[in-house]
Amino acid sequence: MVIKSIDPYRCNGCGECALECPADVIRMSTGKATIVYPEDCCDCIICEHVCPTRAVEIVLRRSVKSMGGRIFTLTPFPKAQGKTP
Ligand code: SF4
Ligand code: SF4
Repeated sequence: MVIKSIDPYRCNGCGECALECPADVIRMSTGKATIVYPEDCCDCIICEHVCPTRAVEIVLRRSVKSMGGRIFTLTPFPKAQGKTP
């Protein structure tokens, strides 16, 4: 899994994701969480778990061997049940 996006309309600016991210991928900017170093994401999904508004979108990371051995991000990861925005 890897962080894909943060919905600015859902983000309430609490800063929990930026505070808890162990790889410093997320920063707060003008009151919203922003992904600044996506390549450093270590797939821990802590950001998704701490987000109270389900603003963080996580996807599965699958290595796909293709021309040039490029890595593609595929398959949306279903949101955990029971969380409320
Ligand atoms: S999945 Fe982990 S490393 Fe990646 S952005 Fe979220 S908290 Fe940071
Ligand atoms: S935890 Fe969620 S609501 Fe809080 S700053 Fe991060 S994305 Fe926004």
